[in-house]
Amino acid sequence: MIKLHDKYFKPFISAAEIEKAIDRLAQEISEDLGNEIPVFIGILNGSFMFVSDFVKRYPKPCEVTFIKLASYEGVRSTEDIQRLIGLTQDLSGRTVVILEDIIDTGNTLAEVHRIFKNENVKQLKIATLFYKPEAYKKDFKLHYVGIEIPNKFIVGYGLDYDGLGRDLPEIYQIQKVQHPTNLVLFGPPGAGKGTQADFLKEKYNLVHISTGDVFRFNIKNETALGMLAKSYMDKGELVPDKVTIDMLNAEVEKNADANGFIFDGFPRTDAQAQALDELMDSKDSMINAMIALEVDDEVLVKRLLERGKTSGRPDDADESIIRNRISEYYSKTAILKGYYSKQGKYFGVDGIGSITEITERLSEVIDKL
Ligand code: AMP
Repeated sequence: MIKLHDKYFKPFISAAEIEKAIDRLAQEISEDLGNEIPVFIGILNGSFMFVSDFVKRYPKPCEVTFIKLASYEGVRSTEDIQRLIGLTQDLSGRTVVILEDIIDTGNTLAEVHRIFKNENVKQLKIATLFYKPEAYKKDFKLHYVGIEIPNKFIVGYGLDYDGLGRDLPEIYQIQKVQHPTNLVLFGPPGAGKGTQADFLKEKYNLVHISTGDVFRFNIKNETALGMLAKSYMDKGELVPDKVTIDMLNAEVEKNADANGFIFDGFPRTDAQAQALDELMDSKDSMINAMIALEVDDEVLVKRLLERGKTSGRPDDADESIIRNRISEYYSKTAILKGYYSKQGKYFGVDGIGSITEITERLSEVIDKL
């Protein structure tokens, strides 16, 4: 996630996807134009990156120029179009291809058509890298479209938010939820996730969702979900993904207005991690970090046996079940370290020390996010 001025933006379209779309556009246009030498006209400022990358990939001779028309102020497309700067060349009899970075309402395009009506060009073609069909209100034909996108404000790859963001090589999308801190608290059973979550939720005003606690609550209340989960939990095995994911979705929905979440005990599998990303994405939000408490196995077994004396948890009472839970963690769950590392979101924290020491270590990571 990045911050430009007062707003947060999350990654939306990668540089590789943009490159692919531009390759396709260059191919399509060159095939259509045959041996014509077109004049490509970029609309500044937004199109500078697109035009530069496009003409590098255009396989035949061409001319390139730019005109300027301002249409964006802040995040909404304004109705009034400013004056034209830069059209000095005689274009009569030429094939002109307008290269736009983005077409949303179509106001800029209307202005382009008005300007070119008197230029006696042979043909006027419109190519746009991004297109928002839901926002488009005009009838002008769009001859070439790179990527269709939903009606959301985007920045990057030439597009700005009040001057910032044009330099980003990929596209970012505005976050509706502007101040979320969504953490996955990770670590083997007995690492102290629950204890630490209690402190962190107060400090950062977050909702703590522990899947283990939700299952135990359901078992206590003898719900259908509880009955189903119990058979797995008693053996120290994982409850099936489908059941757990549906339950987690329901918990997040219940707290739709939260400032953010601490997920504790979830995700535990790759499928759960993907489901969580999809869920957060559907809320225009994201997981900011996975923070893992790292504790040695033998310390864990000792801690859990100790906890079992008072917690009443059947899965804490028996050393072989405890060892099974720890081995489930390493065989199924620890792979998630890779999942979050790839996204640059994994933070390991030493889980041995006093409770306050560990809270401080965790806060240090969160404060830097
Ligand atoms: P915990 O309280 O996190 O140690 O979880 C206790 C037990 O609940 C686990 O051993 C599993 O049987 C079940 N459980 C909790 N979270 C999940 C999850 N995300 N996926 C599958 N099973 C889970």
